[in-house]
Amino acid sequence: MKDLLFVNAAQVVTCAGPARMRKGSEMRDAGILKNTAVAVSDGRIAMMGAARDLEHAYADAEVVDCRGGVLTPGLIDSHTHAVFGKPRFEEHEQRAEGADYMEIAKRGGGIHASVRDFRERGEDDLYNLAVARVKELASYGTTTLEIKSGYGLSIEDELKALRVIGRLAERQPMRIVATWLGAHEIPHEYRNSDERRQEFIDLLIEKLLPKVIEQGIARFADAFCEPGVFTIEETRRILEAAGKAGLGIKIHADELKPCGGSELAASLNAVSADHLAAISDAGVKALASSNTVATLLPGTMLFLGKAKQAPARALIDAGAAVALATDFNPGTSPTVNFPLMMTLGVSQLRMSLAETLIAATVNGAAALALAGETGQIAPGFSADLALFAIGDVRELPYWYGARLCVGSWKAGAPCHPHETGSKLNPRPPEVVPTG
Ligand SMILES: [Zn+2]
Repeated sequence: MKDLLFVNAAQVVTCAGPARMRKGSEMRDAGILKNTAVAVSDGRIAMMGAARDLEHAYADAEVVDCRGGVLTPGLIDSHTHAVFGKPRFEEHEQRAEGADYMEIAKRGGGIHASVRDFRERGEDDLYNLAVARVKELASYGTTTLEIKSGYGLSIEDELKALRVIGRLAERQPMRIVATWLGAHEIPHEYRNSDERRQEFIDLLIEKLLPKVIEQGIARFADAFCEPGVFTIEETRRILEAAGKAGLGIKIHADELKPCGGSELAASLNAVSADHLAAISDAGVKALASSNTVATLLPGTMLFLGKAKQAPARALIDAGAAVALATDFNPGTSPTVNFPLMMTLGVSQLRMSLAETLIAATVNGAAALALAGETGQIAPGFSADLALFAIGDVRELPYWYGARLCVGSWKAGAPCHPHETGSKLNPRPPEVVPTG
């Protein structure tokens, strides 16, 4: 693989620092450098410094002209449900008319609609749909993507979902991480009695989990811990079994009602507790003193029209590590735009620019147990990079909804093709390369 030399960036946002989650006030420094070139060798960041020095040391490298843009670590989307069949746009309007979750389910919508549709589709069909969607995610600067199963909810269909994610990981240029979310919901055929409900949980633990482990097709296990979905005790049972079997743990916690999911995540040493719009004060304290990243999904609350967002300020001020993610899924967050989550981070969650940058990189990596590998532009880290057609990183959350990414790389290989994007705020000529 040829060495690469990135030159003429107006800013290089390094997010450099310890190779672990950044908690509380550690999120205040995103390491923004000017007049810095970045050399990449064997897919890793090799050296950073003045272009003149690096051009000498890397005379044979392929030069990537950043044209006065901003270079950041590739964005890390640590919570998505990107493998699904049909979209569910009809529910959007139904919700606006006042239909709640139960009403939408009665009309044949909701997650059960996605499950019915998913089960009818073949692996190739699901893979092809996912490829197009993954490319869209990449086009906004994401280079690492977590994808969950959870629309299969049967042994065969959950394994099918994880195989599709495995194929994406193998064939697509992004870094893709698989999470088994067998405990996404109790499927229809197990909902008519408490015994049947228990049978489904037994099936997850005794039949499905061993197959997931045996086939080595997931890195993490997740469960939807929420009143009406899985209780605290059920979640604990499922995730303790998964942890014992060797999977890392993530939890959908405290999304709509506080029920102790965050405290459970901390006590299980989960890599992340996700959602948290309804987290209690005790939950905030538990996460602040834990090794668990608080992953916030502000797009979901925005799309659902909820006034309430997760208390990012309280979490960060208490000393927790916060990450942002899209929650890309067909029901409650059909967005592929990661920088838009950073806009919401500033506008709705009252995070500083540096906090949103750390949340989109280092802390996203920590939420996938990858903090030693990606999320920073620093020597030794994988050359996972995103280039944006802006002259100041503050523009990234500012031009909200715009697609500003004009190239991304994973381990030094093109992820989203390098292009010359139009600029919303053209820079004065002095930062534009002349030769
Ligand atoms: Zn989710």
